[in-house]
Amino acid sequence: MAKQLFIKTFGCQMNEHDTEKIAGVLSNLGYSLTDSPDGADMIILNTCSVREKAEYKCYSDLGRLLELKKKNPDLVIGVGGCVAQQEGERIVQKAPYVDMVFGTDNISEIPKLLEKKKGQRKGAVSTERRKKGLVPQGGTDFISVPFPSMVRNHPVKAYVNIVDGCDKFCTYCVVPHTRGRERSRQPEDICHEIQGLASAGYKEVTLLGQNVDSYGKDTGGHTDLADLLHRINDIPGIMSIRFVTSHPADFGDRLINAMKRLPKVCEHLHLPLQSGSDTILERMKRNYTYPEYRDKIRRLREAIPDVAVTTDIITGFPGESAEDFDKTLEAIEEIQYDGIFAFKYSRRPYTSARLYGGQVPREVSEERLSQVLEIQDCITQEKNQACIGREFDILIEGESKKDKRNLTGRTRGNKIVHIPMEEGISIGAILRVRITSATLASLKGEVVRQGRGL
Ligand code: SF4
Repeated sequence: MAKQLFIKTFGCQMNEHDTEKIAGVLSNLGYSLTDSPDGADMIILNTCSVREKAEYKCYSDLGRLLELKKKNPDLVIGVGGCVAQQEGERIVQKAPYVDMVFGTDNISEIPKLLEKKKGQRKGAVSTERRKKGLVPQGGTDFISVPFPSMVRNHPVKAYVNIVDGCDKFCTYCVVPHTRGRERSRQPEDICHEIQGLASAGYKEVTLLGQNVDSYGKDTGGHTDLADLLHRINDIPGIMSIRFVTSHPADFGDRLINAMKRLPKVCEHLHLPLQSGSDTILERMKRNYTYPEYRDKIRRLREAIPDVAVTTDIITGFPGESAEDFDKTLEAIEEIQYDGIFAFKYSRRPYTSARLYGGQVPREVSEERLSQVLEIQDCITQEKNQACIGREFDILIEGESKKDKRNLTGRTRGNKIVHIPMEEGISIGAILRVRITSATLASLKGEVVRQGRGL
């Protein structure tokens, strides 16, 4: 009987994709995924350290796992992801019952770590940052090639890493310290992976990177993201291409033109603004001003009038005055985003902003965060209501999690759409759907006809 593996994933799509790799490596060792930690033979925490208290959360989860380990001493406990990268040995010192700790570059070393652990009392740790081209013996360089047996989370849409790490060093962000410097994959390897996905029936790919607009800069810049999108657009079977995350300093006309010209590239851009105040943007070391950002959005919307734009906002960055914050609210009103991920600032290790003066009291950051969400809710509500009566092509992704009588898909602008389950509609179908009602979170629709391809 297969051994049961439970993975708890925190954080971004990069981490979700890493979980697919971890499950792939462990499937070769006879493990299959389960949805519950109870009764599992191995439990892995795939951690994220972008927000405050990540380490605290990791250790409190480990405390709960200790209870399971007491009941089942054979239970194997592993910690991966950014907290593992950041904390390394400290994890097995503080929680000696942890069997292995692996960094974001060390997933392929899991089998070796498990072997190593067998011969010692202490948990095995590997958080060594991989230099491009250096592959540990018996391992796989996941920057260059896909994992041979990744367990993908979804039958028709897939994540594909194109660049890992980040060179930007925004002053609030721990990512360059946990994921390291930018390393782009070769375009041939990416296209080969996507051809394989298309042959296996995948319809949509989401290209992943901390800064996808930097793609190719570290390898000489012969193929940038726009070139890569052209190549992927030509791959038969793939109907829809998304990419995340863009950086406002690097996003530009070449990408706008590619989005406009290439039929498979979805009309959705996630472009993190973070703040509407130039003073704060400078303190964040974001390398753009709000007018520059706004101008790029204007050019994008001129080229693609129906494009959806989403963003990230941080409230309460050190030194953010009431006037600075008002500029953020004004920016949100002016840009009219389709959606916002907003967070209050949290002090992260290794970052320069943790040492800045003018730390904003927590209650103020929280109050500002609620104001952002309140304004955005009104905008989203209005935008969703405006969809009623319109028709969209959507890719059916699966059953609705909340109501099994419905199927769920997404518009090209990334809005969630539920339609009633009907005989003959399969997962992966592309349908033309008319929107009949809308809430803040999603749209409801009815099938008009089989779509002609996204
Ligand atoms: S661009 Fe800035 S916020 Fe994004 S991952 Fe890089 S350092 Fe972090």
